[in-house]
Amino acid sequence: MVSRGTCYWIGAENPVATAFLEREGFTIKPKSFESFHDFSQEGFYFYLVEDQGSPKQNDAVNLCSANRLGHFVLVWTSVENELAWYEAGADHVVIGPPDDRWSANIHFIANLLDERKKWQDTEEKFTRAHEDLHATVESLEFASRRFEALFNGLPVACFTFDAQGLVHEWNSLATETFGIEAYEAFFNTVWTVLDPEETGAWNQQKVDALFAANQGIEFDWVFIKADNTEVHLACKVVCLTNRRGEVIAAVAGNLDITERVQAQRKVDEQMREIKNYMKVMERQRLKLQEANRQLRRLAVTDGLTGLMNRRRFNELLDETLDRAIRQDHRFSLLLFDIDHFKPLNDNFGHQAGDEILIKFASVLTGTARRYERPARYGGEEFAIILDNCDAAAALLAAERFRAAILAEIWPHRNITASVGCSTFSGVDSARGMIEQADQALYHSKRTGRNRVTHYRDLTEDQLNAA
Ligand code: GH3
Ligand code: MG
Ligand code: MG
Repeated sequence: MVSRGTCYWIGAENPVATAFLEREGFTIKPKSFESFHDFSQEGFYFYLVEDQGSPKQNDAVNLCSANRLGHFVLVWTSVENELAWYEAGADHVVIGPPDDRWSANIHFIANLLDERKKWQDTEEKFTRAHEDLHATVESLEFASRRFEALFNGLPVACFTFDAQGLVHEWNSLATETFGIEAYEAFFNTVWTVLDPEETGAWNQQKVDALFAANQGIEFDWVFIKADNTEVHLACKVVCLTNRRGEVIAAVAGNLDITERVQAQRKVDEQMREIKNYMKVMERQRLKLQEANRQLRRLAVTDGLTGLMNRRRFNELLDETLDRAIRQDHRFSLLLFDIDHFKPLNDNFGHQAGDEILIKFASVLTGTARRYERPARYGGEEFAIILDNCDAAAALLAAERFRAAILAEIWPHRNITASVGCSTFSGVDSARGMIEQADQALYHSKRTGRNRVTHYRDLTEDQLNAA
């Protein structure tokens, strides 16, 4: 037999009705109206109130209370009290002894109570679900508040936008950086808000490409503020996807790099200046180098004839002498003195004398061979170092020069020169070489000019005469 739950029997127990109800599957618990409050506070109960005559004042109060609590009250009474019990609040009234009519009534009531119980369970579930939903909404609100605080507190100018480019979120630093309030940006496209000049920093194509690729991008761009000042920004855009991996929005974080860009510009400018300065320096360095070269040339060159001067000649003589000592080879020295030069100056002027000196130098240069280096020794005196050259070869060379001078066609009058030679003998000093050549030259002068003498060929007497 199926259990139908508990039925509270209120009033003096009737063994026939009790047996009947038990047979129908109910558990019977006898109670009195007086103790009603103690047991009627919870759940749905089925009360069978046995007729004790017409309902009393107290019974009506109890029945109303039972009804209010959702209990079902069945009253078993006689025909004459039926109406009075209905009026007192009974849910149903049965008349006469337990029979099939009772049974049908009771089962109907029991089913009704079952239904009410189910409904109550559903309502409870619904209440619980409602509570869960409420808690979820609360935690969602909390998460949203947290996100808002986080988003707002980000140290970069941040905003979000959808596939149409419409702005949905806009943090405090965005307001500060762009000078645009969040409400001005909301539901406008990023490009109308941030790129009205259509520089290409933001446009529909860029957003389309971003959403299609589903891949973050990074780029630098420039925002022009209302006061026309430039804000340079390094932007990083990240795509936000739904559970299916489709892009539903994007977050753009913009770092203000204006100071860095300006500093970089300054550095670039200074680098340009430095480069220009270096170009100028390089030009000046080249000029200086050239000037130095010229100075060095001038320092070793005779201003009138262009031959090496006496200073350089002395250096060259020292170098040649050093090498000759080190390598044990011969070299010779020729000293030239133009004959009767003074009268030329006196008769034709100093300028004419200069012209002769210049021409004389070019005759020496033109006649000289590779290792023969003519120098202006001073006044109308010239010298030539003959490297790798012994006394005999020196005499031949000296003759070659003397003959060339003689053969030359000169302005004003013929020019001849007297020549003195000396050859390195392994012990000479530079000074000694010059003195010997000078002595030989003196001998040439003394013996008729326009001639060559080697120091080696001078006799003791001849030397003493010098
Ligand atoms: P000698 O045959 O004995 O050498 O006779 P000289 O006249 O050549 O002898 P001297 O040494 O007395 O004369 C040299 C002259 O050379 C004197 C000087 O006026 C002249 N002289 C020296 N240097 C220059 C110069 O640079 N230009 C000109 N025009 N004359 C110069
Ligand atoms: Mg002289
Ligand atoms: Mg002379």
